[in-house]
Amino acid sequence: MFERLPAPFGLVRHGVAPDHQKLKEPIRIYEGIARTPGFQLFGNVTIGRDVSVDDLRAAYHAVLFCCGAETDRRLGIPGEDLAGSHTATEFVGWYNAHPDYRDRVFDLSQEVVAIIGQGNVAIDVCRILAKTVDELKHTDIAQHALDCLAESRIREIHLIGRRGPAQAKFTTKEFRELGELADCDPVVDPADLALNPASLAELEERAGSVAKKNLEVLKGFVTRPVRGARRRVFLRFLLSPVELQGGADARLAQVVLERNRLEGGSFQQTARGTGARVALQCGLLFRSIGYKGVTIPGVPFDAKQGVFPTRDGRILDAAGTGAPIPGLYASGWIKRGPTGIIGTNRADSLATVNSMLGDADSLNTGPKPGAEGLPTLQGGQAPRVVHYADWQVIDRAEVERGAPKGKPREKFTRVAEMLRLVDSTCS
Ligand SMILES: Cc1cc2nc3c(=O)[nH]c(=O)nc-3n(C[C@H](O)[C@H](O)[C@H](O)COP(=O)(O)OP(=O)(O)OC[C@H]3O[C@@H](n4cnc5c(N)ncnc54)[C@H](O)[C@@H]3O)c2cc1C
Repeated sequence: MFERLPAPFGLVRHGVAPDHQKLKEPIRIYEGIARTPGFQLFGNVTIGRDVSVDDLRAAYHAVLFCCGAETDRRLGIPGEDLAGSHTATEFVGWYNAHPDYRDRVFDLSQEVVAIIGQGNVAIDVCRILAKTVDELKHTDIAQHALDCLAESRIREIHLIGRRGPAQAKFTTKEFRELGELADCDPVVDPADLALNPASLAELEERAGSVAKKNLEVLKGFVTRPVRGARRRVFLRFLLSPVELQGGADARLAQVVLERNRLEGGSFQQTARGTGARVALQCGLLFRSIGYKGVTIPGVPFDAKQGVFPTRDGRILDAAGTGAPIPGLYASGWIKRGPTGIIGTNRADSLATVNSMLGDADSLNTGPKPGAEGLPTLQGGQAPRVVHYADWQVIDRAEVERGAPKGKPREKFTRVAEMLRLVDSTCS
């Protein structure tokens, strides 16, 4: 297994929210796999940079890409890149100690924040901004993030979706949590709960659906007494950002939103702009409208979908003939696109591995050297490979660093410090 970071686990470590530790338990399954004879971890090795895909194919009979969706979809509106406008990815990576985002700066002295998007990632970002330090301090949130959040002056968080409450993408458990925070009240405009006939039909047709349960939660938010908490989360629907505008200091000052109406039959409804606009003054904004895969040289890429083109997990050739490239496979977000929870990837991986096993006879063209056949992992220019034993050293050190603070671990946030640690501990 090759991983570009010294730490394995992808988004389970760097995406799943620090206050949802239980959801990180699949890591235990990995630990079991890592002990299997024949398994090798090559951490701190980037495929396509440190090791080419051609070299991998020469060294192994089959190569399976599970490299996720590492970049974001863009809104494509003026002002998107103003200072104060960030992607959810940056913020999530920052609070989860992802080395790529360690040095990002978020201006938490702002009082009003907008989050564009209403999926579970948007909810995570919202919850981390809304929670008190006491609610976060015993999680594995990165210490630098906790220190900044402790100084936060945020009072209002606006969670903005382009469609209505019946179409919101969040799952009910995560959504309900917004009503269970120590010092934050959810706010819903009761008018938003007056659904159009197509939305009512959607709810009617799918009894027990997530949308129906979310509606119940929203109704609860409307009727619950206002506590006068320090922070408020405004759940706002049928609004699309059309422009981010800067102030005199060229930083984000407000987002202009267009009101939408829903068009189309039930389950087919799309948001259409009405032309009516409202402005929301905010100095900080997070875009959470979806992830996108990135290319790896030597692997065909569907730039529109941001995925590797596949059929049954087999990567298809770039020429568009639809022919699978022998020995190349994909699974997870780089195969399906950025949807689904950890469990979704399990079934997805099984399907791909079954394809691989089905091809085993044709792939077995004679012995291959494995990692020993990778020229760029040998010699002076080679990256410092982090093997599983090295990772265990990092893992133990993180747990030890967290213990005095009552945290499950204090993650390292820089690649260099992880490599220094393993160099000083391992032979
Ligand atoms: C913010 C957020 C919160 C989430 N919360 C939950 C949750 O609470 N519960 C849940 O079930 N699911 C959650 N998910 C979804 C879950 O994390 C994903 O379904 C899952 O991690 C996708 O797995 P993957 O293997 O496709 O990609 P990833 O988990 O992204 O793994 C890809 C790995 O490939 C590595 N990589 C990329 N390119 C290269 C390269 N060129 N060379 C070497 N290595 C490379 C990356 O460093 C990374 O480690 C969340 C996702 C996000 C973004």
